[in-house]
Amino acid sequence: MDILSLTSDEMREVFKENSMQAYRAAQVYEWLHKHLVSDYDEMTNLPKDMRESLKELFPVPVFSIERKAVSKDGTAKYLFALPDGDYVESVVMKYKYGYTICVSSQVGCKMGCAFCASALGGFKRSLSAGEILSQVYTAQKDLGQRISHIVLMGMGEPFDNYENVTRFITLVTDEKGQNLSMRNISLSTCGVVPGIKALAQKKLQLTLSISLHAPNNEIRNRLMPINKKYNIDELLSACKEYINATSRRISFEYAMIDGLNDSDENARELASRLRGMLCHVNLIPINEVKESPFKPSSAERIASFTSVLEKKGITVTVRRKLGSDIDASCGQLRLKEKRRSD
Ligand code: SAH
Repeated sequence: MDILSLTSDEMREVFKENSMQAYRAAQVYEWLHKHLVSDYDEMTNLPKDMRESLKELFPVPVFSIERKAVSKDGTAKYLFALPDGDYVESVVMKYKYGYTICVSSQVGCKMGCAFCASALGGFKRSLSAGEILSQVYTAQKDLGQRISHIVLMGMGEPFDNYENVTRFITLVTDEKGQNLSMRNISLSTCGVVPGIKALAQKKLQLTLSISLHAPNNEIRNRLMPINKKYNIDELLSACKEYINATSRRISFEYAMIDGLNDSDENARELASRLRGMLCHVNLIPINEVKESPFKPSSAERIASFTSVLEKKGITVTVRRKLGSDIDASCGQLRLKEKRRSD
């Protein structure tokens, strides 16, 4: 396991095995996670020979910035190059309450959603906890701004990489490191039911988002292959279990696709399925991806859909579109980079 993925207790153990004292592990942990220093040469309170052996023993996974695009609205999109030659994307958005980063949990994705660019780019591998952290740390250093909120909504399915993702959450909320508030973290899943159930047992105060995108199995099957494994009823029942275990409100993501899932009838069906749940619906006009046939719903359609849901007592927000001039939506930049090199 790479050094950035280790908890402070694990780091102490590993240092002990390599005949280094516990306080040295604490120093390195603080450099890495509090001061965001990844170069051992900059860890000035360590003896020179120790720095040299640490370089050999525990290389720190650092991502280099391959490309960076800044939108007119201040959204910054990073394309990070991995040592093994592939790319991951992260997006930093500036909100009134602070900077939010959207991180990737995998290189590509296996889930195959029909509208998503990450699926088109193909699946390569899962990222380690340290590699997910590295996106946060590198962007934070590059921007010179504290990132206070994290959404796991970039490339990849977090529950297809459960151990590393939950380890990442432990590390980023560690008071000896960046000490982010658990409430400032959102995790989005396409509906991997065992992951939802496992996370419920941890009773974390983060926000769980579910990419629902359809009011029934017929439409959802067309958009999301995962629905054939875990259908809407199984998914919503796992969500109820999650709400009961954590008392946290679930956020349902619903991408509005012209003529496909955006009628008033669809809204009524959605409302009746979600009735009585501690939840919130976030409508997203779908982002157009060159290779996919889907078009975003009109503003009037979205308004009408919203009002049907609201009349049924469901809280709704429509996602503000940030960074559309820089392809700031999942998988788009990596896909462009792949096209460039193909
Ligand atoms: N795999 C996880 C997280 C990554 S995707 C998940 O599926 O939730 C983050 C969100 O962007 C998901 O809600 C996904 O369905 C949505 N998304 C993917 N492609 C999109 C597009 N072209 N337009 C709008 N939303 C999209």
